[in-house]
Amino acid sequence: MSHVTVIGAGLVGLATAFELTERGADVTVVDPAPAGQATHFAGGMLAPVAEVQYRQEPLYPLMLDSAARYPDLIERVSAATELPTGHRTDGTLVVAADRADATHLAELAAHQSAHEMTVERITVREARRLEPGLSPNLAGAVSIPGDHEVAPRQFAEALIDALRSRGVEFIAEKATALVRAADDAAAAVTAVRTESHTLPVTDGDSVVLATGLGASEIEGVNAPLQLRPVYGDILIAAAPHGEELITRVVRGFVEDRPIYLIPRAEGRIAIGATSREDHRADTPLFAVRDLLRDACRVAPCLEEAGMVEWGTGARPGTPDDLPYLGREGRNLVISTGYFRHGILLTALGAAVGAEMALGAEAPELIAACDPRRARR
Ligand SMILES: Cc1cc2nc3c(=O)[nH]c(=O)nc-3n(C[C@H](O)[C@H](O)[C@H](O)COP(=O)(O)OP(=O)(O)OC[C@H]3O[C@@H](n4cnc5c(N)ncnc54)[C@H](O)[C@@H]3O)c2cc1C
Repeated sequence: MSHVTVIGAGLVGLATAFELTERGADVTVVDPAPAGQATHFAGGMLAPVAEVQYRQEPLYPLMLDSAARYPDLIERVSAATELPTGHRTDGTLVVAADRADATHLAELAAHQSAHEMTVERITVREARRLEPGLSPNLAGAVSIPGDHEVAPRQFAEALIDALRSRGVEFIAEKATALVRAADDAAAAVTAVRTESHTLPVTDGDSVVLATGLGASEIEGVNAPLQLRPVYGDILIAAAPHGEELITRVVRGFVEDRPIYLIPRAEGRIAIGATSREDHRADTPLFAVRDLLRDACRVAPCLEEAGMVEWGTGARPGTPDDLPYLGREGRNLVISTGYFRHGILLTALGAAVGAEMALGAEAPELIAACDPRRARR
């Protein structure tokens, strides 16, 4: 049986470990704080259509492919644990706060339709029939039935439980270095060093590096990864008596600023998210103010909710917005840089990463994601 060391237990590393166990591999996971970074703060939208951004066309097929894989992944994980994943398939509404936002929404819907994505134009009245908590003053709405959601923290817990029950060992330490057979970028990894262990990687075994932003801190990674933190602030609110204030993901444009509201268990709602490259890892009050103002403008029902939590996570950004997914050297698979879409892209990244760790070639779909591309 092949042994694979997965470094990093965010959603990508955990799901990759799960896919490896599905294929019969023996797996060790190394992470000092599983699911403690971007995964902990993520909204969890599985939104290959609503998340479309102009000039990111190479990402669209990856997003659609991964969304299509999700129901099967959820089903297999749910068969391996009794813990919930927070997967919901109620669809997504996108609304516009003013006339300029409505024009933007209509143009985006035309762009999405031109790429054969399913977007249904609906009236604000219809949107409010689906979600009575929305403002009557909205200027436009579309429905995207195929955009779903998962609760990232719950899904990570479910994966950890499934992996433990399959005998996967978790080492709660940082990986510090990859030891190579020779001083050569293509040489095989022969060991993974952690803070207090040296884990041997013998012939036929492999390593998956799924450390999000942490990849840059590990010695012996030869691919020219260019990762940068893109901070996102997110708030969690709860209805006073646990009632559901909204029942599906609502995204909005408010004076050109994006906002989203994601229903969670027990009447909680995640409100997100900013996108900042100002090197502030704390949660600035201006970000909280903007999120609350825009969220309440879209859905005034939120004014009654109480604040439960706030926080700031760092998305692992890359220069071309594509992940780094591919082989570097004989037995190392790099799977990081999932940026804004890492929860969505987990299903694809995990399956492809696992296959490659077990010897498969990179599929054509991810040709543009080669971790060595900056060197070319
Ligand atoms: C506010 C916010 C909202 C978001 N919303 C969405 C969304 O709605 N939908 C979506 O698809 N994406 C969303 N994202 C993006 C998504 O969160 C990330 O792309 C995704 O979580 C990346 O997963 P990952 O497993 O690669 O990285 P991470 O979740 O960052 O996990 C990396 C793991 O590696 C570990 N690690 C780091 N260094 C080492 C080391 N040296 N040794 C061992 N372990 C190490 C860390 O402890 C961590 O557990 C959002 C991000 C943010 C910040």
